Amino acid sequence: MKLSLIIPCFNEEAALPFIYQELVKVSGMLHGYDVEYLFINDGSSDGTLALLKELAAADSRIRYYSFSRNFGKEAAMYAGFCNAKGDYVAVLDADLQDPPSLLPDMLKLLESGEYDSVATRRINREGEPPIRSFFARQFYKLINKISDADIVDGARDFRLMKREMVDAIIKLNEYNRFSKGIFGWIGFRTYWLPYQNVERIAGETKWSFWKLFKYAIDGIINFSQAPLSIASYGGVLLTFVSFAAILFVILRRLIFGDPVEGWASLVCIITFIGGVQLFCMGIMGQYLSKTYLETKKRPHFIIAETNAEDTIKIN
Ligand code: UDP
Ligand code: MG
Repeated sequence: MKLSLIIPCFNEEAALPFIYQELVKVSGMLHGYDVEYLFINDGSSDGTLALLKELAAADSRIRYYSFSRNFGKEAAMYAGFCNAKGDYVAVLDADLQDPPSLLPDMLKLLESGEYDSVATRRINREGEPPIRSFFARQFYKLINKISDADIVDGARDFRLMKREMVDAIIKLNEYNRFSKGIFGWIGFRTYWLPYQNVERIAGETKWSFWKLFKYAIDGIINFSQAPLSIASYGGVLLTFVSFAAILFVILRRLIFGDPVEGWASLVCIITFIGGVQLFCMGIMGQYLSKTYLETKKRPHFIIAETNAEDTIKIN
């Protein structure tokens, strides 16, 4: 059996030696598996690529794929899936927050034949800024309510999958990718393996609050049409309210005559409606811009350099 391990790396020179060491250790415990490591260098500006070349020269199991620029973790994972040859495929972060030591147990679960994938979820978020944890929890609550892709709170991208599942993921070649949603959407039998959160071994997180916020919005727009419905229902509601208001104004005119009053309330109403309209147009704009990007059919990644043969370089 062949096992492919995909590791997206963006400026990870500090963490790479640790993850490599750990991977070698765990691979040594897996008997009967032919392991390959796919390191995806996502346009790092530090010494990540040089280090990968060095490691690859000493270990023939290593294949590195170096992007022409930073395409983001989603693109890096996609490139890994496209180029993985294994019967089993797993994605792991480079910072050891996805402990490779879980792999033997995950493989055992898959071998039992009851599941097609073993996914992991953190049961706590220790070591994370509280504000980030708070928003993360709200995000999971919201997206589960308004979309049909069910996404577990604390779910990681760290999973071990069978070939069939990977092929399905490759087929879903939408440009705006949100893997946690995609994994859920394609179905298959998944076992959820809980584990305690581990802090990053070295280096810094690559996700700023703003980057995460945009990623969350992406997740919602990609897997739910609820915001569009909010816009139209809101519009209908406001129309009824304005009918009532018109009626009120007409009746008041007939009963009390026409005092020139109400300028302040009028301005308030106009600004309010204007705001709501702009908000709704913004929602539509979000969907339109996603559609626009999808129709261009741009590749997800461009590999500029690799040591692997028959590589899918652009996809
Ligand atoms: N990563 C990547 N491209 C990016 C950002 C991140 O390939 O543009 C990789 C990064 O190298 C790491 C993984 O994605 O292996 C998770 O990133 P990080 O640990 O910074 O995220 P966090 O754990 O803080 O959510
Ligand atoms: Mg991390």
